[in-house]
Amino acid sequence: MSGHVTNEELFARARAVIPGGVDSPVRAYGSVGGTPRFVTSAEGAHVTDAEGRRYIDLVASWGPALLGHAHPEVVAAVQEAAARGLSFGAPTPAEAELVEEIVARVPAVQKARLVSTGTEATMTAIRLARGATGRDLLVKFAGHYHGHSDGLLAAAGSGLATFALPGSAGVPAAIAAQTLVVPYNDRAALEAVFAAHPGQIAAVITEAAAANMGVVAPASGFTTFVAELCHREGALLISDEVLTGFRAAAGGYAQVLAEAGEQVLPDLATFGKVIGGGLPVAAVGGRADVMDLLAPTGPVYQAGTLSGNPVAVAAGLATLRLADDAVYARLAAASGALSAAVGAALDEASVPHVVQHAGTLFSVFFGAEVAGGVPDYATAQRQDAAAYGRFFHAMLDAGVSLPPSAFEAWFVTAAHDDAVIDRIVAALPAAARAAAG
Ligand code: PMP
Repeated sequence: MSGHVTNEELFARARAVIPGGVDSPVRAYGSVGGTPRFVTSAEGAHVTDAEGRRYIDLVASWGPALLGHAHPEVVAAVQEAAARGLSFGAPTPAEAELVEEIVARVPAVQKARLVSTGTEATMTAIRLARGATGRDLLVKFAGHYHGHSDGLLAAAGSGLATFALPGSAGVPAAIAAQTLVVPYNDRAALEAVFAAHPGQIAAVITEAAAANMGVVAPASGFTTFVAELCHREGALLISDEVLTGFRAAAGGYAQVLAEAGEQVLPDLATFGKVIGGGLPVAAVGGRADVMDLLAPTGPVYQAGTLSGNPVAVAAGLATLRLADDAVYARLAAASGALSAAVGAALDEASVPHVVQHAGTLFSVFFGAEVAGGVPDYATAQRQDAAAYGRFFHAMLDAGVSLPPSAFEAWFVTAAHDDAVIDRIVAALPAAARAAAG
């Protein structure tokens, strides 16, 4: 397009000074191929790239854009906060207000501390669990992603799944050895790992519903089983709701479970994404007695120059206050209509697939080997990523921007109204035929 710098030119320029041209790996289109779109603005359900092309967005900043991009009331709250100063290094009134919103929605959370990223939240949760129990070992599930700290990259989802990496270079063996990985939804494997390490496991960390290997909800009763086993063995349960929190439902995936009759109270829970409304806010919360182990009240150290940043907290607070029943009803309607239409289009084109849900979250796995359902990472890895790549590019050509990886959830927002969904649906038949190959 004349007059515009191209995505290709911007990517070349970025690659010269930024590894891979991106500040987070999945953005590079590495698994679907092609040139990432360099976004210059976004509004509602749409993003616009540097070439001036507008796309319907199903990435939603990987979750934070619950209300849609640049919601006017959120932007106004940010502008007001910014005009009062960007950061003080002192407590501000709004921090407790934001934590009160979280406490009000999530029964397991009595107290929480604000940090800036989901990675920090899970890192702190693990340190707290170790401090509380005096034990070192951590259990995680294969295919779950909890951020990029040393102990959590073994058999992780998200970018590691996208690029088929077993873990990361640069993690000391002594640290990796503190993490035990078991298959998700596998009761016997979890029992076996506790039996093999009696009195040594500080915590089990689980995504409340897995959504970084595609969406894989816990089997009925599984989360209750995990909680009971942890508590019987003197370990803590950490529920990572960074992705599911305030998105899968108003009260996160804990609410989805409760509505299904499972009242699971994790000892600690982590949040991010939605609670910052697009700015860097995350949180670790849970039982007051465990949270009070944090400095300055307790011996577990954690800190942050920009923790509880006033501009970021203003964005999060405005987002959560606007996220009412109507917002969650819209999210449910949009994800229900879209996931049904995708399934129908793929059926029509005879593309084997399965659509999996967790509350308002969903993703689509392509391929005959997974069409019977995906309960765990080993199965997720057997999906047909090439078919997804063809589907992705056909949708992109039609003006719909999907996650550039077969291992990610598709994110709708409250701005995905019926007209937007209809436009996505219109693009599906051709993309389904492209996936068929
Ligand atoms: N936990 C989960 C479940 C996540 O989905 C993510 C990010 N996708 C993280 C932790 C890490 O969060 P952040 O990228 O903010 O460090």
